[in-house]
Amino acid sequence: MNKSLSILGSTGSIGRQALEVARYGKYKIKSLTANADVELLEKQIREFRPETAAAADEKAAADLTVRVADMPTKILSGAQGVCECAAMQADVVLNSVVGIAGLMPTLSAIEAGRTLALANKESLVTGGELVMAAAKKNGVAILPVDSEHCAVFQCLAGCGDKKQIKRLILTASGGPFFGRTKEELRNVTLKQALSHPNWSMGEKITVDSATMMNKGLELTEARWLFDIPAQNIDILVHRQSVVHSLVEYVDGSVIAQLGVPDMRIPIQYALTYPERKKSEVRQLRLEEYGSLTFEKPDYDTFTCIELCRKACAMGGLYSALVNGANEQANLLFRQGRIGFLQISEAVAYTLENIKPCLPGGVEEIFETDRMARQAVNNYFRIETEQ
Ligand code: MG
Repeated sequence: MNKSLSILGSTGSIGRQALEVARYGKYKIKSLTANADVELLEKQIREFRPETAAAADEKAAADLTVRVADMPTKILSGAQGVCECAAMQADVVLNSVVGIAGLMPTLSAIEAGRTLALANKESLVTGGELVMAAAKKNGVAILPVDSEHCAVFQCLAGCGDKKQIKRLILTASGGPFFGRTKEELRNVTLKQALSHPNWSMGEKITVDSATMMNKGLELTEARWLFDIPAQNIDILVHRQSVVHSLVEYVDGSVIAQLGVPDMRIPIQYALTYPERKKSEVRQLRLEEYGSLTFEKPDYDTFTCIELCRKACAMGGLYSALVNGANEQANLLFRQGRIGFLQISEAVAYTLENIKPCLPGGVEEIFETDRMARQAVNNYFRIETEQ
């Protein structure tokens, strides 16, 4: 029997590719959720006929209810509706919501005992300790969908004892601005930041990839997911995005996972795990590449990785603080209100000047996130919209 699947964030890049995998593998879709793109969500509901669907935006949910009134799908509304969909019975719940908005759905799925395929890295960056403790308590598996983490997960197969691991090596494409100096980055445009050489992704993560904040968030994500200290996780720039990550063991062996840069591979692996099934992705032909290159990141130009590493070392909710500052600065850049280099500047300012709440429950995480966004707005003298 094919597994059943719920997709949170089904109209985004990962969500749409997950539905391609579901169509090809004939998976039953239980729930679909989106933020506000009801036009596409309606199309998806008509094709995949889920039992429930939700739009996080209340107005969009009302619109959707009218649009699919002829369908048996039950429509839920708001952030609460998305969490209800996350908890619904399904063999796997894929969370591909963007940003900290993915945290509550992650916890809802875990508390309901669902196997979680996690593409929302911010869940672990902001709430790593809480999320991993909840998963342990509920006996829930978290299967990484981020390509690097899926690679590490595969490289760790057969490793029975964490003491055998020397370090994790996450690869980074370097983004569209690799090799540029700080001066050359001062006036880059959104359009330039959005032209990623290898991966086609949503706008928020593509900008994160251009600043290399994405790699810093991934380092933080890996720290929680695999319970490896951040100082034992290295970053390696690999322009071709063929080697998706590596694990170095104490005996000197290094295991890598390779594949064409196509997110349908990690998405499908999370669905078929622990099995593997045929997929429709292009075959990797290394001879077409000829050579693969590896080099150290330029940490002086791309400062976000070190900011994330610093936040990990500071512990508590400092990573949530960095994430909130980045989400706000990334948004302001996409809105054309700040320059590219000001993103990392604002994150550094926030990490330097704001003290996050002491770790507790989700309230402290969201309050820390609010403080970080406010700090970024203050830094640019932008009024915070309530
Ligand atoms: Mg990734």
